[in-house]
Amino acid sequence: MDLAGQVALVTGSGRGIGRAIALALADHGANLVINDVVAESAKVVAAETEELGREAMAVAADVTDEAAVQEMIDSVLDRFGRIDILVNNAGITRDALLIRMSEEQWDAVLSINLKAAFLCTKAVARLMLKARSGRIINIASVVGLTGNAGQANYSASKGGLVALTKTTAQELGSRGITCNAVAPGFIETEMTEALPDEAREQMLRRVPLGRAGHTTDVANVAVFLAGPAASYITGQVITVDGGMVM
Ligand code: NAP
Repeated sequence: MDLAGQVALVTGSGRGIGRAIALALADHGANLVINDVVAESAKVVAAETEELGREAMAVAADVTDEAAVQEMIDSVLDRFGRIDILVNNAGITRDALLIRMSEEQWDAVLSINLKAAFLCTKAVARLMLKARSGRIINIASVVGLTGNAGQANYSASKGGLVALTKTTAQELGSRGITCNAVAPGFIETEMTEALPDEAREQMLRRVPLGRAGHTTDVANVAVFLAGPAASYITGQVITVDGGMVM
């Protein structure tokens, strides 16, 4: 098992892509910290992780809150004594056309999709710097590369996450820490379920591989980036989008 004995923290892993990443990392040997704002979802995924034969802890914490992030990291250190892999996955959408977008919609999305990644990276980087190793994986989006009408807040947050990824890679690389981003396209989760049929069909017409992605398509890349085969890759954005953006 590539990741045997390592400890991975995945934010927002109570469902969707985060859950798939957590279970895939566990499948490759890692022990898991399952974070979500909803305690019950985190507990369910932690139990699923244990069924795979790994250790898991569920931590209900809002990752936009610096004190809550630090408390979470301290509780992980008490239990496992280390964090080898951080996946900044928690994210939301609050879509509206730019001229109709409220300040609240803008702030909520920037806070969860970008500020939370900064807070978690800052807290975990201190441990990784001491350990002189670590993997940080940020779940961005293709719209962070292209922009998207109706998603000024979301695309700006994901574009910011790409820049944060490259900066983190530059600052931490000399201590053996890599930081990369995965940019999913259209993946079947509760986030995309909410889209009207017409928008889904329009989106799928832009995918050369002709289907929506599965959460496991994203999880496979995260496992690769967390594992030894990716040790010479940092500061990169890997799109997982069926060819939607080339
Ligand atoms: P999802 O099904 O909505 O899951 C998002 C998870 O994040 C939920 O478990 C949610 O908790 C959690 N979360 C939200 N706010 C949080 C907070 N403040 N603290 C901790 N956890 C929080 O979304 P998804 O589709 O799996 O998306 C996962 C990531 O992939 C996001 O960053 C998203 O932007 C990105 N992405 C998704 C797609 C796609 O097509 N699905 C495409 C590109 C990028 P609750 O259960 O409490 O809401």
